[in-house]
Amino acid sequence: MRERPLRPLDVSTVEVHDDFWDPVRETNREETVAHQYERIDEGGCLENFRRVRDGESGGFRGMVFEDSDAYKWLEAASYVLASGEDPALRERVDRVVDLVAAAQADDGYLNTFIQLRQPDRRWTNIRMVHELYCAGHLIEAAVAHHRATGDRTLLDVATAFADHVDDVFGPDGLEAAPGHEEIELALVRLYRETGERRYLDLARYFVDVRGRNDRFDWETDHPEDIAGLPDTWHTGTDWDPTYYQSQAPVREQAAVEGHSVRAMYLFSGAVDVAGETGDEDLFGAMERLWENMAERRTYVTGGIGSTEHGERFTEDYDLPNDTAYAETCAAIGSVFWNRRLFAHTGDARYPDLAERTLYNAMLVGQSLDGTEYFYDNRLAADGDVHRSGWFECACCPPNLARLVAGLERHLYATDGEALYVTQYVSSTAETILAGTPVTVDVESGFPWDGEVSLTVDPDEPTAFDLALRVPEWCVDPELAVDGEPVDATPGEFAVLSREWTGDETVTAAFPMAPRRVAAHPAVEDDVGRVALERGPVVYCLEDADHDVPLDRLRLPTDGDLSAEHRPDLLGGVTTLSGPALDPAGWDGDLYRAVDDLDYDETKFTAVPYYAWDNREPGAMRVWVPAPLDE
Ligand code: ZN
Repeated sequence: MRERPLRPLDVSTVEVHDDFWDPVRETNREETVAHQYERIDEGGCLENFRRVRDGESGGFRGMVFEDSDAYKWLEAASYVLASGEDPALRERVDRVVDLVAAAQADDGYLNTFIQLRQPDRRWTNIRMVHELYCAGHLIEAAVAHHRATGDRTLLDVATAFADHVDDVFGPDGLEAAPGHEEIELALVRLYRETGERRYLDLARYFVDVRGRNDRFDWETDHPEDIAGLPDTWHTGTDWDPTYYQSQAPVREQAAVEGHSVRAMYLFSGAVDVAGETGDEDLFGAMERLWENMAERRTYVTGGIGSTEHGERFTEDYDLPNDTAYAETCAAIGSVFWNRRLFAHTGDARYPDLAERTLYNAMLVGQSLDGTEYFYDNRLAADGDVHRSGWFECACCPPNLARLVAGLERHLYATDGEALYVTQYVSSTAETILAGTPVTVDVESGFPWDGEVSLTVDPDEPTAFDLALRVPEWCVDPELAVDGEPVDATPGEFAVLSREWTGDETVTAAFPMAPRRVAAHPAVEDDVGRVALERGPVVYCLEDADHDVPLDRLRLPTDGDLSAEHRPDLLGGVTTLSGPALDPAGWDGDLYRAVDDLDYDETKFTAVPYYAWDNREPGAMRVWVPAPLDE
């Protein structure tokens, strides 16, 4: 673990001006954030707060964690406010903040499901009722809102609630870990924002109590507590302790298990706690768990959690394509976890996986126009899988909105002496390095072009390190300062240590040659199949680009691949094309000798996976079979 963690730069200190991300972020601002406000308004989420404010009872609408949708919306909207003036949005945010504040009980408690439906059952079903999960999202929204506006209203609501939680839980009070993690990472954020050590101690308590409290067996001990919950919340085997990462104390866990979003939030909080308290043992457990996930349980897209049964991890190398679950929220959680692991190590493997996840498993979660969403993300489909406008369980869309709106937090990190460029997004960042204000400008062609140039402008000549991530997918990277070559190794940071005067230009070339990829032989569903990548982008084949049915196409493992940028297609994408084979003449026989196989030569065109299902409905494949006999 590093002695001094690498903190992300604040949203307000980074200005993004990027050809790829600007349209995504503009759609997020203009369409998604606005659209989601309507959904939380019409869907009853805000009405729940109004009813509590007005002293009413009953009439709760939505899922048990409905409050969190309002908080995630507030967090996303706060990042939008942090990156520029928007008076209409500010007014809307203020109204929601006032509404949330007005619904808070005098003792700091706040959860509209309990307040409206089971007011005498606070904290009686820690495992299923999501009070602490919602509290966590409230805290995250409050920190973002305070940073963006300087207004303390929501932060005061969050601290009052956190104080209440601190009174209720702990060795002298309720000993329990929540069924859905989120409070852990949120309390660390609150600690950093307020300097109040007890929030960090409480976060550590929630991490360490997990896997030790088996006395909350609610189905048998408290049947009355689940009476008001939807059936899906207390049936089947989904709720074994592994589902919510309570099968063992966190620091003893050997593999990423259970509900994948829960796991990502827990491990994000655990890394924060380990980093803030210097807990090497806990941090070591996080590194082990990451290796298990990254090396055995992650799709080529960065997606995680391969089955819809319990929305969870299954076993090593079990990565089916046509039933892939890979929830959008889990990808987002992975980006959060990776950012935190990086903060305490400076290791490039974390932003490498974050990059893969951002451009593929996360971005695929919404349509190009920002109004339709995937909750789960298949890697193969036959024309019957499409995005929806919204979900009854609407966790993913506002989660995506808050990540896209707060993208700035994922681009740079600093410990005050060095600036790390973790993702290549054209932007201007202002920070202080070795005591001197410094402006860094990055111009990047990602994800279509690997040419990057940077200028570094300190207020006065100052010595500090500028560290650039050299992507692991890159072959023959070139890096230079004022034309002087500098060593660059894929999968590592290139650290440029010098006195910077403001006259230097750093240039990087990360060639994006198209490449064919194979999966580990133990991934049964990918045996004999090829996937295509270029730069950070994973590709797929769609019906819309082919006359031959997709299930007949075979991709040879050799032959030239070519890339073409198509500004007119899917919002502007680089496509890949190359030779393909089609067993067109196979008719009649069910089986044939391999020696007798015969293929017609044809061509394939691949489009970025994130952009699929934005044209006429059809089949899609990420992993395409190679021919048996080329
Ligand atoms: Zn989700």
